[in-house]
Amino acid sequence: MIFRQLIEPDSNTYTYLLACPETGQALLIDPVLDTLQRDLDVLQKLDLKLMYTLDTHHHADHLTSARLLRERTGCQVVYPAVEKPDCADIGISEGQPFKMGSVELSPLFTPGHTSHHHAYLLDNGTQKMLFSGDALLIEACGRTDFQSGDAATLYRSIHEKLFSLPDETLVYPGHDYEGRFVSSIAQEKVRNPRLGGGKTLEEFVSIMNGLDLPYPRKIDFAVPGNELCGTCPPNVPEEYRGPCDLHEQG
Ligand code: FE
Repeated sequence: MIFRQLIEPDSNTYTYLLACPETGQALLIDPVLDTLQRDLDVLQKLDLKLMYTLDTHHHADHLTSARLLRERTGCQVVYPAVEKPDCADIGISEGQPFKMGSVELSPLFTPGHTSHHHAYLLDNGTQKMLFSGDALLIEACGRTDFQSGDAATLYRSIHEKLFSLPDETLVYPGHDYEGRFVSSIAQEKVRNPRLGGGKTLEEFVSIMNGLDLPYPRKIDFAVPGNELCGTCPPNVPEEYRGPCDLHEQG
């Protein structure tokens, strides 16, 4: 498999490129509008054809580039079926493996950060890689205090669906704010300060309720824009319009 971990630095979002070397087909997990051209350049450099974009959920901190990537490459836009927007081409669900050449992903329904969040597990026989979206982060987890978030639901998702994976499973998160790239299920089960070391549901809910996080700076345009597969709505503030203006002209 061909694999690249790519970062969008303004929102500290990781975009993952997975490709099948035999067919030259590629997919992108959580591509970001701001780094559309960078992703197209990477695909070209690797001589890959983009077949799919997969979003883990409707993001609140950045706009997806799914719609524009479809316009530029002819790829198909994939979303969790439980909240698939009309603009998406394919809805995926847990229990239905998603195949592209030799790349096979198992969607895992992991609500709590949002009610429709899915993580994607890749197991090619020699490696297990979990693309955990914003459910499980390195020594952290996605926030649960906006959109359709719920801390108790996230606790159950992580314990039942993710911490039950083999210890050696590598965890590739949707974000990291401290320059870390990868963790493992074993490490998070022990070291995650919110969930690890046997933290109870009550302890976790109390930690999440006490985080006192600032209001997400892009949420007012990112969520409605992402429900349209990454269309810039008219209310994008001037300071964030750069990627919108660039691609509308292009
Ligand atoms: Fe998120």
